[in-house]
Amino acid sequence: MIDLGTIQAYIPAGTGAACRQLGLWLAATPIKWAYGPLSAYDIVGTRNRIIRYFLSHDVPLGKEYLLMIDANAVPIIQTNEIISTEGDLLYCGMAGREGRGIHTGDEDFGVKCFRASASVLQRMKDPWFIAPPESSEAARPCECESFRLRAYALGFEASMAGIVGHLQECVVFPSVDSQFGWKIAWPSDLPYERIQNG
Ligand SMILES: [Zn+2]
Repeated sequence: MIDLGTIQAYIPAGTGAACRQLGLWLAATPIKWAYGPLSAYDIVGTRNRIIRYFLSHDVPLGKEYLLMIDANAVPIIQTNEIISTEGDLLYCGMAGREGRGIHTGDEDFGVKCFRASASVLQRMKDPWFIAPPESSEAARPCECESFRLRAYALGFEASMAGIVGHLQECVVFPSVDSQFGWKIAWPSDLPYERIQNG
């Protein structure tokens, strides 16, 4: 069993204030946590700054594990595995924006909620995260892969420890076609047409 006093959690502030469900989980979980540096438009840089601060400030004070949780992560019962499981590199299985970009299983890695030991982070080179190239695709690739590859090159593989939800906006409509009487759509999938006059 991990000594929970050795875990320091950070929420990258670039993803906004902790959602209500994450706030409830943090209140019920005996680990120290704080917001990372404020950077509304550079989530990848914010992740790197949090790791730098953790290594230079928290590790000398006795912390051994960094737990990074995005503000829009929704913990459920299985998410508790991320604090109770032993290991140097753990992450919660997750789904990316609008359900795209799934990270699951022991050979993958996802950033939504992960825990890394100080020794793994010290051996990996700064920057830990690299922004993926801009793409014209709607589902932009994420920064998880850069971290996974750097860790893997040093012989560290992430293990999946539970799963975490990802708070997303969706839209419900009444629907006579559905047996439930309603249906759901992602906002980005809704079609729009210009209305002509006359
Ligand atoms: Zn990802």
